[in-house]
Amino acid sequence: MNKAKRKTIIAGNWKMNKTPAQAKELISTIAPLVKDADCEVIACVPFIDITAAQEAAQGTNIKIGAENCHWAESGAFTGEISAAMLADIGSEYVVIGHSERRQYFGETDETVNMRVKSALAAGLKVILCVGELKEQRLQGITPELVALQTKIALGGVTEQDMSSIIIAYEPVWAIGTGLTATAEQAQEVCKIIRDCLAELYGQAVAEATTIQYGGSMNDANAEELLGKPDVDGGLIGGASLVAEKFAAIVAAGSK
Ligand code: PEP
Repeated sequence: MNKAKRKTIIAGNWKMNKTPAQAKELISTIAPLVKDADCEVIACVPFIDITAAQEAAQGTNIKIGAENCHWAESGAFTGEISAAMLADIGSEYVVIGHSERRQYFGETDETVNMRVKSALAAGLKVILCVGELKEQRLQGITPELVALQTKIALGGVTEQDMSSIIIAYEPVWAIGTGLTATAEQAQEVCKIIRDCLAELYGQAVAEATTIQYGGSMNDANAEELLGKPDVDGGLIGGASLVAEKFAAIVAAGSK
């Protein structure tokens, strides 16, 4: 596999943190620290923060995304936000299938797939999250499970669409827990996902798709994780809220 064929992407997932004013402040603090990055830098922020974050990111190399979108274009879905709405306000990216959406909001592989298709139809780039629970890892079913999650999520997604898909391997047991997968574990599963893409779309697509690792990635472990041949970036939760830590991960992704 040739890593040079892929973009390294470091994306923050702010979860339900920061008001619009705080979002502006954080983006403004991060911007000078990452201005020379040799990788793509994204901040996925709460819906309410998108416009403020975009204003602060204007003229910088930081791109702004959302953390979820609904699958329908419009309709009776009180409290939801459609992909078309995100596109209309200039959001470029959207995280779909994050484990917290699966755990707390009833997200399934099928609804993840519907959201992915709706995001692509609206012209958004998707950061698609897959990953196993701790019990599933202990059962030894991580390879099959992650491959199945990937295949279901990408049902109906064409080879052409794949240029708008980033996959984030996020072992659920490592998210927000301080437990990081070892670099070897991250590499193993990212490679399984890449093999799955090769099966679905052929080798060229598999080699061109960015596959991130996410799960307690921080300034101390990023370099080792990002040094693995199939780990092309990171989806960062907690550490993305601390400008210096996020910038250090971006620096590791720029090497
Ligand atoms: C995440 O929210 O996607 C994530 C990986 O969180 P953390 O980095 O805090 O584990």
